[in-house]
Amino acid sequence: MRLNIILLGPPGCGKGTQAKMLTEKYHIPQISTGDILREAVKNKTPLGLEAKTYMDSGKLVPDDVVIGIIQDRLKQPDCEKGFILDGFPRTVVQAEALDDTLKTMGKKIEHAISISVDEEELLRRLTGRRTCRSCGAMFHILFNPPKKEGICDKCSGELYQREDDKEETIRNRLNVYNQQTAPLIDYYQKKELLRTIEGVGKIEDIFRKIEEVLGENEAS
Ligand code: AMP
Repeated sequence: MRLNIILLGPPGCGKGTQAKMLTEKYHIPQISTGDILREAVKNKTPLGLEAKTYMDSGKLVPDDVVIGIIQDRLKQPDCEKGFILDGFPRTVVQAEALDDTLKTMGKKIEHAISISVDEEELLRRLTGRRTCRSCGAMFHILFNPPKKEGICDKCSGELYQREDDKEETIRNRLNVYNQQTAPLIDYYQKKELLRTIEGVGKIEDIFRKIEEVLGENEAS
């Protein structure tokens, strides 16, 4: 089974959660440009210093920066059996660069799965999100509250609201998504790789729908 997967969808649609579940089931890495950039910001590397201002205001980091990150990451041996791209590509330029990179490696994208969720629901989800400063675990003040307010259940670290989870930034991120990333739905549809699933309901049910998509394609 070839599993070079892209998860597409607006911020807050649950891509990250589903990517983690796919990683556990299929033993292929989740590659999240957002996570890689946040780690760089935390460590104050040159990449992190460059990316921070874009990220804090909800803008996209320049294409050449994220394309470079992905090209390096895809060369790692753990990507041999497949990978799940979560949060990349986000522009048509990134998608084209990804196609070119994979081609030189004798690979291609096999599944582009778009997770759709309406905007009101996205706002509710994103503004309630809290992240652990130490281990990165995510909670939600309404849907998945920690046992003790402000404290991570897993490592007792401090929970905080990411700068880019504040309401004004979220509206910005959703605009950026609609303008720059939504055109990718068309891009992958034209390549006959796109499958869209509803991202509302129980996390396990959404995962089942993704498994069905992967299974169906395997049979064809
Ligand atoms: P995420 O956690 O995927 O929502 O990413 C958080 C932030 O990182 C985004 O709002 C962007 O500023 C930046 N970022 C992540 N992935 C990309 C990408 N593929 N292209 C440009 N910027 C990105």
